[in-house]
Amino acid sequence: MILVYFFDVASIIAFVMLIAMVVSTKHIMDLKFKILCYLTVAACAVPILDILRTYVIEYRMNATVVYIVNVLFFIAHAIVTFLFLMYVVSQVEMSHTRSLIRKILLFVPLAICVLLVVITPFYTTAFYYSVETGYVRGPLYFLTNLVPVLYFIWAIVYTIRKRHILSRSFVIMIGLVSIVNIATIGCQLLWPDIIVRSFTLSMSAFVMYFFEEHGRASIEEDTNLVGKEYLIEVGTKMIRNNYPFSLILMKMTNFDALSDTFGNANTNALSKNIASYVGHQFQLGRCFRISESTIAILNLNVDKTGELIDKLYNELSNSWEVEGLDISCDILMTHIDYPNDTDDAENMTALVRHFNRMERSVGGIIDIEDLHIHEHIRVKLVENAIERGLKNNSFEVYYQPIRSLEDDTFVTAEALVRLTDPELGPISPAEFIPIAENNGTIVAIGDYVLETVCKFISENDMEKLGLRYIELNLSVIQCLQKDFIENVERIVGKYNIDSGYLCLEVTETASNYSPTVFKRNLEKLGEKGFALALDDFGTGYANIERMVTSDFRIVKFDKEMTQYSSSEERLKNVFEKLQNVVHSMDSKVVAEGVETKEQYDYLKRIGCDYIQGYYFSKPVPEDEFVEFILANN
Ligand code: C2E
Ligand code: MG
Ligand code: MG
Repeated sequence: MILVYFFDVASIIAFVMLIAMVVSTKHIMDLKFKILCYLTVAACAVPILDILRTYVIEYRMNATVVYIVNVLFFIAHAIVTFLFLMYVVSQVEMSHTRSLIRKILLFVPLAICVLLVVITPFYTTAFYYSVETGYVRGPLYFLTNLVPVLYFIWAIVYTIRKRHILSRSFVIMIGLVSIVNIATIGCQLLWPDIIVRSFTLSMSAFVMYFFEEHGRASIEEDTNLVGKEYLIEVGTKMIRNNYPFSLILMKMTNFDALSDTFGNANTNALSKNIASYVGHQFQLGRCFRISESTIAILNLNVDKTGELIDKLYNELSNSWEVEGLDISCDILMTHIDYPNDTDDAENMTALVRHFNRMERSVGGIIDIEDLHIHEHIRVKLVENAIERGLKNNSFEVYYQPIRSLEDDTFVTAEALVRLTDPELGPISPAEFIPIAENNGTIVAIGDYVLETVCKFISENDMEKLGLRYIELNLSVIQCLQKDFIENVERIVGKYNIDSGYLCLEVTETASNYSPTVFKRNLEKLGEKGFALALDDFGTGYANIERMVTSDFRIVKFDKEMTQYSSSEERLKNVFEKLQNVVHSMDSKVVAEGVETKEQYDYLKRIGCDYIQGYYFSKPVPEDEFVEFILANN
């Protein structure tokens, strides 16, 4: 008896604390959180009814009272476990997207349990009670425990099946809670006197609440906006469930200008006012804070999006009063529709990020197309292809022979990376290298290229092939890595090759980022014996100063410059003068992009040192390249 009260009273205290905590904090009342609240309330009824039931049985009270209290107890317990399963399901699905049959299926065990206990006064299915005999378990008593166990097992199976879309910690949490509850029910059957069932339930509710709270987006108290992490969560769920929505984006385009004029404090206050105005017009959890100047609104009434945008635009573009100042705001608005504009949550968030960063000073309502959605989707696809390529080792290195006009043989080659993706097909490095530079994967790609080239050099007799070195492209991002030099040395050391076999190409624009680090790293490479080449000279701003001050053994004239200068008289002059400058520094010139005999003849006539281009060969795979060299040298 004492033990019964001990655990039940403890769990009632725990539930009261939990309910107080839930009530005192602001929450987004989405489906799963609502279910968790219902679950907590139902679970709180379990120990109360448990105490009552022990009490009425112990004191041999009226049969009707005993039946009612017991029936309520069993139903409450079954409902709690049913809600537990619903909570798990609602992590993945939305209530409107389940088919009717699947919905009904969820209720079946609960219905059986309810039926069983409701008819018990007439058929003594679950238990029997009279003042004389007291409480006796019925033949189907075990079913009242089997139903909760079934729901817990169902929850485990469901989380395991959906584990790829649920977080690992969630799967573990649900697994543990279910197992502990099943074990408790087992103990309860074996030792009916130790009633720990409701205590386990209360502890489970605590764990679930803390889990939910932990992953919850923060809500800005004064504006009602929620953090952008929650947008990703909601968007993912809506898209996974094929639920159409539009995401309305709005931004104060003159935020920075206003800060300059009216000061940070006033501009922030204005931004808060606007956010609060918007935030209080919509349900909590529908407006998201993307940045100080940008808000996203989730609109489920897709047909009304246009109307809503017009209304908001007119209201927000008025002037606002802040600290006695009249400040008017330039608002830019657009909307992204699922499934028309995007069908992927990652794309959606990339577009939101892009909208937020967009440099545009005038406001207005713009079409999503103006965000260049397709380019963004393509970038995302290419990013995925790069990830896949790195994971599956599907990058390759091709070689393009470079001919020395002085020796009249191919003395070197440029290593060029290639990527063919199973979904996107071949992707040009001109497209994926800048993307890889942006997301940092260039470092891994660069390592792969360097490693492949070193391997090639170590496996082939360079002298016999007539090759002096291999040229490879370095990205500025690589050159700026803290351990860049050590990394290059490590890879080169692994294949035990002489650094003189490598010529590293960098572009002149590369040095604009962080000139000191860049220059220092290049100098170190030079000291270690690597040859350096300045790539794409002549594109954009030809920085002669950089060319003169750095120790480049080779300067590669960009293909456009090569191609134009062989046909245009005025450019010929420039080309030849620049070549003289390079020669005067004891460096050599490579003309890139030579495609025709005419170009070749011209370059030979003016004394160009090396020629690279389709005229001789396109970049080809390693074995084809070796064949080419053996046949031609
Ligand atoms: P780049 O370093 O200037 O390489 C020369 C580019 O010109 C190569 O394009 C080559 O295929 C192309 N080309 C060569 N001869 C001709 C010709 O006669 N006509 C025409 N139209 N094009 C010619 P590719 O392979 O598409 O590479 C493009 C750029 O991507 C490279 O320009 C380089 O900046 C970058 N890249 C390629 N591989 C790597 C790499 O391993 N690492 C890094 N960081 N960048 C790379
Ligand atoms: Mg190059
Ligand atoms: Mg080039």
